[in-house]
Amino acid sequence: MSELSYDVLVNNDNLLSPFYCPSNLIVTDDNENNFHQYKDPTLKPMIREDIYPYILKMMEDAKKEGIFFILDSGYRSYEYQKVLLDKLLAQLGDSAYQKIALPGASEHQTGLAFDVAYYNNGVYSDDVKGDDKEAIWLANNSYRYGFILRYPKGKEHVTGFQYEPWHFRFVGFELAKILFQEDITLEEYYERNKGSSRILL
Ligand SMILES: [Zn+2]
Repeated sequence: MSELSYDVLVNNDNLLSPFYCPSNLIVTDDNENNFHQYKDPTLKPMIREDIYPYILKMMEDAKKEGIFFILDSGYRSYEYQKVLLDKLLAQLGDSAYQKIALPGASEHQTGLAFDVAYYNNGVYSDDVKGDDKEAIWLANNSYRYGFILRYPKGKEHVTGFQYEPWHFRFVGFELAKILFQEDITLEEYYERNKGSSRILL
């Protein structure tokens, strides 16, 4: 199966096939930043191998500025997304749909997206708030590494997703810079460039 291009648009209107799985996933088990076992020992973050170096470089540069974050959740299969949704539906009822993507609508299935968490003073936390210094640093600097804050505050009506200060998506260096500098979402970019040769899909 060929890999999805870096600018792929995945949302409630653009669903991935239940059978789609990137072919070059790596398990980030040997990564010192992997603390996922604190939540579930059977789950280790996976990510597309071609973008992993950019995450590591971003972590390394952040560290130099005293900013520490960990790769918490990367690739998720269609099936696993369904398990997560069902779990949340049992807890929250229909409001679960506001909190978690439908199977096929999650960027985690592309292997190009990941959630960050913290591991500070020996304590793991995925309680990421938009005004945390780490989240602010990532929102302002991730584009330099080809990533975007995919679900910004105030753009919920455009993305169809709640504000997620922890979720970052690789879109490539050029596109990340455009989206950051023009303060637009991937949806707005596609809307604006409909029919344009800029869109590589
Ligand atoms: Zn996410």
